[in-house]
Amino acid sequence: MRKTKKQIEQHDLHVKRGDRVILISGKDRYDKEAADKKIGNVKKVIKSENKVIVEGLNMVTKAQKANPMAGIQGGLNKIEAPVDSSKVMLYCMACESPTKARYEVVNGRKVRVCKKCGEQIDS
Ligand SMILES: [Zn+2]
Repeated sequence: MRKTKKQIEQHDLHVKRGDRVILISGKDRYDKEAADKKIGNVKKVIKSENKVIVEGLNMVTKAQKANPMAGIQGGLNKIEAPVDSSKVMLYCMACESPTKARYEVVNGRKVRVCKKCGEQIDS
């Protein structure tokens, strides 16, 4: 069966808003040896582009034109650039490592649990 565009857009990404995630490539990729581990929360999911915006990661400097009418100051602003969802991995706080989630039904509710340690990811 041929997939329509609509079906693709409706497909859920493996991460959602509020998830703790790491990046597996780029300048902000996760390094478990680093003192300052780069872990961020998913700020926004852009389903139609299969991308996510992660707070504090993949920052780019963007020149902003001043627009006093809208209260926007001109200059160079640091903003998060969207990252392809395939470059994002869930991070488990319980076993302190990047992980994948599997689904379990707890009290009739579908929740995600860490594949490594079995801890619940959704609270
Ligand atoms: Zn875990």
